[in-house]
Amino acid sequence: MQDFSPSFPEIRASVRKLCAQFPGSYWRALDRERAYPTAFVQTLTEAGFLSVLIPEAYGGSGLGLGAAIAVLEEVHRSGCNGGASHAQMYTMGVILRHGSPEQKAAYLPKIAAGALRLQAFAVTEPSAGTDTTRISTFARREGDTYIVSGQKIWISRAEHSDLMVLLCRTTAREEAAKPTQGMSVLLVDMRTALGEGLTIRPIRTMLNHATTELFFDNLKVPKANLIGEEGEGFRYILDGMNAERILIAAECIGDGRFFIDRASAYARDRQVFGRPIGENQGVQFPIARNQVQLSAAALMVERAAALFDAGQACGTEANMAKMLASEASWAAADTCLQTHGGFGFAEEFDIERKFRETRLYQVAPISTNLILSHVATHVLGMPKSF
Ligand SMILES: Cc1cc2nc3c(=O)[nH]c(=O)nc-3n(C[C@H](O)[C@H](O)[C@H](O)COP(=O)(O)OP(=O)(O)OC[C@H]3O[C@@H](n4cnc5c(N)ncnc54)[C@H](O)[C@@H]3O)c2cc1C
Repeated sequence: MQDFSPSFPEIRASVRKLCAQFPGSYWRALDRERAYPTAFVQTLTEAGFLSVLIPEAYGGSGLGLGAAIAVLEEVHRSGCNGGASHAQMYTMGVILRHGSPEQKAAYLPKIAAGALRLQAFAVTEPSAGTDTTRISTFARREGDTYIVSGQKIWISRAEHSDLMVLLCRTTAREEAAKPTQGMSVLLVDMRTALGEGLTIRPIRTMLNHATTELFFDNLKVPKANLIGEEGEGFRYILDGMNAERILIAAECIGDGRFFIDRASAYARDRQVFGRPIGENQGVQFPIARNQVQLSAAALMVERAAALFDAGQACGTEANMAKMLASEASWAAADTCLQTHGGFGFAEEFDIERKFRETRLYQVAPISTNLILSHVATHVLGMPKSF
């Protein structure tokens, strides 16, 4: 199948070669146990694919989001899943953009080398949901230490991270000048925090995603681990969220290509009524429609990545890319399952697994309604409903 986005062809080819070492049987076994893909993540790390966004001065390859989307798209097109490792690519962005020179020197080279895993990003709370300004996890200053208490939910990879970026309140919402102020970003060292004020409870979900609930009970975090200025944390995490949305959109493009590859191959091969099922337009048109939708979404992902790499505002494009790509991958997943008939439901075809995996992206990291609300109010100037 011809793609619209053949950027970084060498990277794409080497990612595909690496992914061939991790076939469907590898992912199916992990999926059954809800186990973490340690060998896959290690291989991606050693190949340098998780440090493409880290500047060369800190040991990364400094290639930018254009290269990162090529990596994740190919991971997903190959039937693998980048969810276990993608945050190692972008979570460090908050240190890179807002950390002190000492913090950058202390952490970035080790993250680039894979010696430190920074792939947990803790924002969501059970009682705040999407309304991040209502988070209540609170960090109280006592001398050179913050004392953190509260709760987070859906924090992925927390058990597989050495460090975690934590968004918490340092001023209560009612006392802050604006609801978006009074939040701060702390870097939590999971290796010392666990059992000393931090408890992690895994949540079993419909897909293998290593997500968890976190409980903070007077956890001590050194003041030296504050990123940027106290009270400005919300602004800092917004830049990172754009990168996250674009990268996840690229994973959706990869998923969509996986489904279209599989559906069209099966439609060409499977004979029913003495002819390939793909000869029937009722079978081929939905797959062709998926290809059209996915190609358009891929262009938006590339556009958003190009704006991000040029240092330009890209919030709207990142949101649009994520929405278009997650809907296109989901539509392709549905067609692929339908095209396979009963075999679509058989584990050994990997379609039902990828079907479950790609559904997530209409909800996380931001749900579709919130993207529509952004476009309606920020782009089209309609009144905000909340
Ligand atoms: C597997 C998984 C992994 C995750 N990983 C992380 C992570 O690592 N770190 C992290 O911080 N979070 C993570 N999340 C959380 C994720 O970002 C949120 O689930 C997502 O943003 C939606 O928030 P919510 O679940 O609180 O839904 P809610 O905010 O409770 O919303 C529920 C539904 O109501 C809709 N809705 C809410 N308000 C409005 C409105 N005003 N107008 C229209 N519709 C509205 C939403 O669109 C949604 O469909 C993860 C979630 C999952 C499921």
